[in-house]
Amino acid sequence: MNNVLSLFDGISAGQQALNRLGIKVDNYFASEIDRKAIRVTQHRFPDTIQLGDVRLIDGKLMNDIKLIMGGSPCTDFTIMGHRKGMVTNENVKVKNLDEYLTLKNQGFEFHGESFLFWEYVRLLKETNAKYFLLENVANMDIEWVNIISTALGVQPIRINSALLTAQNRDRLYWTNIPNVTVPEDKGVVLGDVIPGAETGAGRRGIPDKTKGLKPDGRKFYVGKYTYRKDKKANCLVCGTTTAKYIKDGQVYDLTPEQAEILQSMEKGYTNIDGVSPSDRFHMLGNSWTVAVIEHLFAGLKTKKNKYELFFR
Ligand code: SAH
Repeated sequence: MNNVLSLFDGISAGQQALNRLGIKVDNYFASEIDRKAIRVTQHRFPDTIQLGDVRLIDGKLMNDIKLIMGGSPCTDFTIMGHRKGMVTNENVKVKNLDEYLTLKNQGFEFHGESFLFWEYVRLLKETNAKYFLLENVANMDIEWVNIISTALGVQPIRINSALLTAQNRDRLYWTNIPNVTVPEDKGVVLGDVIPGAETGAGRRGIPDKTKGLKPDGRKFYVGKYTYRKDKKANCLVCGTTTAKYIKDGQVYDLTPEQAEILQSMEKGYTNIDGVSPSDRFHMLGNSWTVAVIEHLFAGLKTKKNKYELFFR
C-alpha cells in the first residue's frame, strides 16, 4: 500500500499537489482540527480520512506510510507571533523529542501551538515513513531552525513562492525527497494574474513620530498604506489588512478567488457552503503554495518517469 499521512492538513494543499502530478495514493490520512478547513478538504477530496487532533494519533497502528507531510503551526516562530518558540507554559525550551515526550508524560502543558512540531517528529518515528516534508516560516530564529534540522537530520531548503507565483511567501522546507532544488524564477508579477494590478499593498501600523511615546513607553502608530516595489502581492496571512493591491493609483482588496490564484489553487477552491470570505482568507493564509509543493514532489519521479511512491 502507498499511504500518505498529512499533518496540519488545512485545506490539503499537499493533496492538491499530489493530484496535479498524478501521484495516486491508496489512503490519504489527514490530521486537522479546524472544522472549516476540514469541510473544504472533504468537499474537494471526499476520500480523505480525517484523523482529528495530531496528539491523539498512534503512529504504531498505521501501516505503509510512504510520505508524511505537514506545515506545523508557525504562530510562536514567526515575527508576526510571540516568538517564544517551542516551550512549556513555564518557558522551559523543548529541544528534542525525548524531552518533549518526558515533559508531556509528566503532564506539563506547552505554550501556543508551535510545539506540535514534536508530534510530527513522534509520528515520523512511529510510522517509519520513507519520505517526509516539513514546512515552516523563514523568519524564525536560527536557534529553532537548528533544533528542527537536528531533529529531522536534514538542513532546510529556502524557497520563496514568488519564484513561481505573484505572491511573496518566504518559507523553509525540510525534506529527504531527492534532488530538491530552488526553482528558477518564472518572473510572474501581480499584473499577470490580476489585469491592470501594479503591485501589492497593505495597511500597516507605522510609528507616529509626531506624537512621542505613550505613558507606558510604547509608540503611537498610524495606519498607512505601504506599496511593494517588486510588483508582487504581500504574503497571504490570516487577516486581510495586507491583502491589497494598487490599480490606477487606487487601493483594492484582493478577493478570495485572487488569493486562491496567488496560492496556485483552482479559482473557487475554497468557495463552499458554510465557509465565509473571512474563513477563506484565514485558510488560504495558513496554506501552502501548491506550485511549490508540486516542484518539491517532482523529486519523487524516477528516471522511468514514474513516481517512486508507486513502488510496492
Ligand atoms: N499546510 C496546510 C496548513 C497548515 S497551518 C495547508 O495546506 O492548508 C497549521 C494547521 O494546523 C492549521 O490549519 C491548524 O488548524 C492545524 N492544527 C492546529 N492544532 C492542531 C492539532 N492539535 N492537530 C491537528 N491540526 C492542528
